[in-house]
Amino acid sequence: MMTLWERYCAAERSVAETAVACGRKREEVLLLAVSKTVSAERIAELYAHGVRCFGENRAAVLAEKAKQLPADIEWHYIGPLQSNKVRKVVQAASVIHSVDNAELLARLDRIAGEEGRTVRFLIEVSVSGEASKGGVPIEDLDELAMRANSCVNAVWSGLMTMAPLAASSAELHDIFGRLAAERTRLERHFSKKLPLLSMGMSGDFREAIACGSTIVRLGTCIFSDKED
Ligand SMILES: *Cc1c(COP(=O)(O)O)cnc(C)c1O
Repeated sequence: MMTLWERYCAAERSVAETAVACGRKREEVLLLAVSKTVSAERIAELYAHGVRCFGENRAAVLAEKAKQLPADIEWHYIGPLQSNKVRKVVQAASVIHSVDNAELLARLDRIAGEEGRTVRFLIEVSVSGEASKGGVPIEDLDELAMRANSCVNAVWSGLMTMAPLAASSAELHDIFGRLAAERTRLERHFSKKLPLLSMGMSGDFREAIACGSTIVRLGTCIFSDKED
């Protein structure tokens, strides 16, 4: 059985090999360790090896772990965000991946100002149109992007998507390629850099990296000790 650190290193190697095989540089892709299923102790094990970026999907759990662990961890909030949890998340997270409606966006911008925190955020897009998933429908993206672009406190830094679990490799290329194209289009439209393109999980990060992902969110392949 592999240790946690060995699994992290294996994931790191796969990300690096995939990036290089796609003609990209390793440094272009952040490996975000999605620690939502594990305790602060497990996170501390990776921290001791130098890992600094972790992803959580529950506001209360994020707040609790952030309190227990060193302050130089860069926390990413990747879960659905309820408006009454925004302040908690803003207090702990550096990057919020899951902004998908105008009301939430306005609240985030106001609270980031009140808290005096620089928080970057991504618009989550539902590319595949799956009703069960979060994310703004792609036809409503422009409207939300316009609002994101005029935020004064929170910093709009890119786009995020989740692909359906059952998608084929061809479908994954379609979905991730579409998100990458939307990002390029919006960068031109607003004459603005959108450096963060968050796509790819344990089962589909290779396709995501091939399509230009700059953040892969890996949970199972690092933290689960069962083979997938
Ligand atoms: C849990 C989660 C992940 C990690 O998924 P794995 O398949 O375990 O790698 C990535 N992104 C989001 C939004 C998640 O909720």
